[in-house]
Amino acid sequence: MTTLLVKNIDHLATFDNARRELKDGALLVRDNVIEAVGTTAELAHLTADRVLDLAGHLVMPGLVNTHHHMYQNLTRVMVQDDELFVWLTTLYPIWAELDDEAVYVSARVAMAELIQSGCTTSSDHLYIQPNNVRLDSTITAAQELGLRFHAARGAMSRGQSQGGLPPDNCVEKEEDILRDAERLIHAHHDARRHAMSRIVLAPCSPFSVTPGLMKEAAQLARTHTGVHLHAHLAEDLDEETYCRQVYGMRPVEFAASVDWLGPDVWFAHAIFLDSAEIRQFAETGTGMVHCPSANMRCGQGIAKIREMRDAGVTCGLGVDGSASNDTSNLFLEARLAQMLQRIAPSRYLSEAPGGRGGFGGSPKALSAREALEMATRGGAKLLGRDDIGHLAPGMSADFIAIRLNQLGLSGTQRDPLAAMIMCGPFKVDFSYINGREIIRRGEFCEHDVEASLAAHARIMKRIYEQ
Ligand SMILES: [Zn+2]
Repeated sequence: MTTLLVKNIDHLATFDNARRELKDGALLVRDNVIEAVGTTAELAHLTADRVLDLAGHLVMPGLVNTHHHMYQNLTRVMVQDDELFVWLTTLYPIWAELDDEAVYVSARVAMAELIQSGCTTSSDHLYIQPNNVRLDSTITAAQELGLRFHAARGAMSRGQSQGGLPPDNCVEKEEDILRDAERLIHAHHDARRHAMSRIVLAPCSPFSVTPGLMKEAAQLARTHTGVHLHAHLAEDLDEETYCRQVYGMRPVEFAASVDWLGPDVWFAHAIFLDSAEIRQFAETGTGMVHCPSANMRCGQGIAKIREMRDAGVTCGLGVDGSASNDTSNLFLEARLAQMLQRIAPSRYLSEAPGGRGGFGGSPKALSAREALEMATRGGAKLLGRDDIGHLAPGMSADFIAIRLNQLGLSGTQRDPLAAMIMCGPFKVDFSYINGREIIRRGEFCEHDVEASLAAHARIMKRIYEQ
């Protein structure tokens, strides 16, 4: 057993149930768990094996990224000006060249990028598994980097010859997908508190799998504790058209028809939901992850975060794949969520007498603290976790520290927490995950970033040459 006392924290934003923010805060960590939270004076009587003085820093829970496709960092800045379906059909043949090494190396790079920008937990939705690709390699990468990881066994099974969008050489047989999903659960799923590895079942989208696979994935997940379900839904109007034509239903109706509404399900995007569907999400406990960069990049639309939060829908944040983002910074997504919701045509505007011309919204639509709550507590809830997302006794020791004495944070002393996104994003100066120090004074303690980047560049060259 080892103990760590973190003290003299300028601003400690706990995001606990009372949303306490402490000046001159302190934390006591025993191994991988937080044992005490308070002011430095309150914790002064405690002794520890190690002391970390974070005077001049803000400390908050590590961010929880709940939607990503890490392998896509091999195909950034491609297809810059086309809609989702063109974007996908251009990229599918390139992704068909992925192999297991490419998936492993791209995951290492993506995870390092996430950790450096504040994430301590991430999910990754690997929905294309050609050649010898196995999800296990991303789990190995997470173990090496020290990231808390929910690996989503993605899948596509409905190729063009079956009326789906992806080419046939990008899809798998449904029986193989389900067999592999079960293998992964037994090999890597840890349902206990403070788990570093969990498995998620994640057929890609209504236009790339069959209803049968959705149903069987839900049944398989529900025979295991803590195995959640994840997919894209209501991401694009072309998807809605597809669902109407192929299934005769709207996307949420389709989800309900395959038993995909519930507290163990979270969907990426959920942009095109009407008010009844939003209530349906709230009543069933179905969650959603908002990915503003990708939605803006592909010109899709603005998710109704204000209405969803007011209705009680669990909302988290995700960076989405590196080919539709093309950065992977969750603080930036929190900033964009705040800004985008404010410019969204809102009820405030539509109810204004006489109306106003053009687009417009409300500065009350989403606060900085709400956006940061989506990135912490919201993400934790989507993943089904009661041990991460805020700092309190008994929670996992996942926290980040940002140095306040820097140019971009000058003049923010009155509210350094809001400044994290209103003035940011910033890189973290310290990152602790499960009690392990991953970043110290802005540098990775163990990970060789240069070596990962060199391997990544070599693999990218090979994929494009093929
Ligand atoms: Zn996605």
